[in-house]
Amino acid sequence: MAAQNGAAKKAPFHFCCEEIFMWHEPGATQNTRKGLQPTPHFESAESKRRLHNLLEVSGTLDALTRVRARPAPPEALARAHSAAHIDNVRKLSADSSKGCHRAGDALSFSPGAYEIACLAAGGAMALVDAVMGGSEAGARGGEAGRGAYGLVRPPGHHATRDEGMGFCIFNNVAVAAAHAIEAYGLERVAVVDFDVHHGNGTQSIFYDDPKVLTISLHQDSNYPIGSGPITDTGAGAGAGFCINAPLPPGSGGGAYRAAFDRIVLPALDAYRPQLIFVSAGFDASAMDPLASQMLVADDYAYFGRALAGAAAKHCPGRVVAMHEGG
Ligand SMILES: [Zn+2]
Repeated sequence: MAAQNGAAKKAPFHFCCEEIFMWHEPGATQNTRKGLQPTPHFESAESKRRLHNLLEVSGTLDALTRVRARPAPPEALARAHSAAHIDNVRKLSADSSKGCHRAGDALSFSPGAYEIACLAAGGAMALVDAVMGGSEAGARGGEAGRGAYGLVRPPGHHATRDEGMGFCIFNNVAVAAAHAIEAYGLERVAVVDFDVHHGNGTQSIFYDDPKVLTISLHQDSNYPIGSGPITDTGAGAGAGFCINAPLPPGSGGGAYRAAFDRIVLPALDAYRPQLIFVSAGFDASAMDPLASQMLVADDYAYFGRALAGAAAKHCPGRVVAMHEGG
């Protein structure tokens, strides 16, 4: 693409965030029958709004190329989810007789959530199209540095083919990865998940599929309990294309950086992905109440540089990072 006004040529970094994502309402965490005062839900819009606002105040937002989300069509959702799960969410979401519905372990949402969840998954698909160059450059390869970030709600990486769980309705990254394979004929897509919780949904959806390498760094047996042991390595044709690095509670930047250097980056070098997704959760932060890890901002910057470097090496900079927890 030609540079404008004499500015140095720089590939755009795409960004997707819609105000409607912030209107997703998972309800309060409460059990008043047990005599506990309700508290705001952990998965709230506040932390995402703060991130968006920081981008705006710092001027970073001006340097990003905005990509508008469009709802993921049912056939796109169906590449990652069963018809029963999609129908269940749609029907519950359309029922306004209750303020809050439950649709899986640790998953609740208010009426209207189906449309917002479709938009979040569709946002991930739109970012894939942006970094793949839409119909122009396509899989032939684009410019180096064509990354993207989706600041979306609800998150996605716990949602399995058949049910939502852990605040996740549809698996945004899985829907987008399946879209990338379908629309651009990709054969090697990597998903690096550094959310503090195991990316169980993404793992299970692609467990027997060698076209998707899933790598999850997570706090050992946090959520889902017992999920993501090192012995989960894929099955059938997908054997060897699933990697788990459960890290003990209290792990900080040293442990995580070592896991990146010794596990994540060598695995990406061996796999040579054509596109890299990142399940970017920030709940391994020392400030997060849902886990016990000790990461700080510099550690996340390290992850970003490492993944951008791997993408520059293997797939002309094509990285699509989607917000998960935190
Ligand atoms: Zn998480």
